[in-house]
Amino acid sequence: MTQEQVLDVLVIGAGSGGYIASIRAGQLGLKVACVEANPYADPRGEPRPGGTCLNVGCIPSKALLSSSEEFEKIERHAAAHGIRVSGATMDVPAMIARKNAIVTKMAQGIEYLFRKNKVVYLKGRATILGRTDEGFRVAVTRSGSTQELTTRNLLVATGSLPRQLPGIEIDNVDICDNAGALDLPTVPRRLAIIGAGVIGLELGSVWRRLGAQVTVVEALPQLLPMCDTDVAREMLKLLTAQGMDFRFGARVTGLDRASDGSLSLAYVDAQGAAHSVACDKLVVAVGRVPTSSGLGLETIGVKTTERGFVDVDAYCRASVEGVYAIGDVVRGPMLAHKAEDEGVMVMERIAGLAGHVNYGAIPSIIYTSPEVAWVGRTEQELKEAGIAYRAGRFPFTANGRALGNGDTSGFVKVLADQKTDAVLGIHIVSTYASEMIGEATMAIEFKASAEDIGRISHAHPTLYEALREASLAIGTGALNL
Ligand code: FAD
Ligand code: AMP
Repeated sequence: MTQEQVLDVLVIGAGSGGYIASIRAGQLGLKVACVEANPYADPRGEPRPGGTCLNVGCIPSKALLSSSEEFEKIERHAAAHGIRVSGATMDVPAMIARKNAIVTKMAQGIEYLFRKNKVVYLKGRATILGRTDEGFRVAVTRSGSTQELTTRNLLVATGSLPRQLPGIEIDNVDICDNAGALDLPTVPRRLAIIGAGVIGLELGSVWRRLGAQVTVVEALPQLLPMCDTDVAREMLKLLTAQGMDFRFGARVTGLDRASDGSLSLAYVDAQGAAHSVACDKLVVAVGRVPTSSGLGLETIGVKTTERGFVDVDAYCRASVEGVYAIGDVVRGPMLAHKAEDEGVMVMERIAGLAGHVNYGAIPSIIYTSPEVAWVGRTEQELKEAGIAYRAGRFPFTANGRALGNGDTSGFVKVLADQKTDAVLGIHIVSTYASEMIGEATMAIEFKASAEDIGRISHAHPTLYEALREASLAIGTGALNL
């Protein structure tokens, strides 16, 4: 690309938000370039697109969750089906190689899609230099050489990085963030995890299924405070029964390494008593911080919040006209699909269309076993907002498909407005909850009533019949309970 060309839009970051936004811009005929400085280089040493989600997040974690789930099924659950297997072992390097191959394949797919949609892919670090009459000036630097570009619009999609804890230095060998935890060469005998959030629970599940003794140290007094209380309670029961050891109300005070290499994580509990957890590997999963500093946002006057998020409105417009920000670097849930939806919205609006995101209908999923998925509001949120509602619940113990599958844990809970019967929230604990939440999201997006769901034909025998039954439980009554 020559220096004279003025772009319609320059996207900084080729993660979930940035790469999807770039493709949509290309589809809409905008002159678009996407810059990526990813430290997670591909086998050729090139900055790889895909961001956190593809390189060290959603995709690799789900690959390992799937491998470890298969192992656990063979090792512990096959016998119930009459399948006798003895001596199943886990080849961890093979599992990691499979995961890496999936990531490489998908990254190549993004580069192909960039070419197909005429997105100029620039490998390097972007820095905003300032503004001229023609547009924003941005430098892209790589290995000491710099290219300068001018763009009419700027989309900041720089994502987030793991939050660090003072005194605990990540080496991604023994003391890991998500990147190291997705690349362990062997199963640790004892694994400690700081943070019982979504990432901590998913990564803990992978290594527990493969044989690690997992201890989770969490500052808050309870599990999953963002979930519906019934869901959080059920998950605590199920994960504890699987062998996860939770220490709640725990304030981490230090980490020591013994001469044999083992680690000792010190914490004080809610009563102030001191404790420690001995472990061979530690994973720090205490949340993520937006990547907004060092980008040059201040040179053009873009405001950020106290916590470092780029300040945006409902359409992801930043405080300076022509600048937009999406994904983990702005408010809202740190989810890949939320970043993607925002990217599409921004490009459609730049192109003069009417893009929008319904923030009330963004599903959330925790890929433990069983999975947790929800969309809309929790029972406690409805109570706080003073909204009168009715709740319908259906357990998988009464679902034929779940019995056949050999896993009847969990339930579906539907919350509907007491007066209008409009569905306000759906909460699922179950295997394949991640797939079932699709129908629930559609119901909320299309403003369905619980009665609507109850009247829709649901194939038999399926797990998602439980969604219908829970909806019927609000009105005429569940049929199979
Ligand atoms: P990112 O994906 O972080 O991408 C930002 C990109 O910008 C990065 O590649 C970065 O290198 C680049 N960049 C930053 N600064 C510059 C610069 N100056 N110049 C050039 N490039 C720059 N979400 C889900 O929805 N489902 C899941 O199952 C899920 N699982 C997860 C599991 C783990 C272990 C983790 C850590 C996260 C998971 N997430 C999941 C969250 C998801 O990964 C993020 O919400 C998503 O990646 C956010 O997308 P983004 O485009 O905002 O940012
Ligand atoms: P999430 O924000 O979903 O990634 O989850 C991060 C989790 O880490 C939350 O449950 C936090 O309460 C927890 N957490 C944050 N800081 C600490 C800390 N210092 N010690 C233990 N847990 C923490």
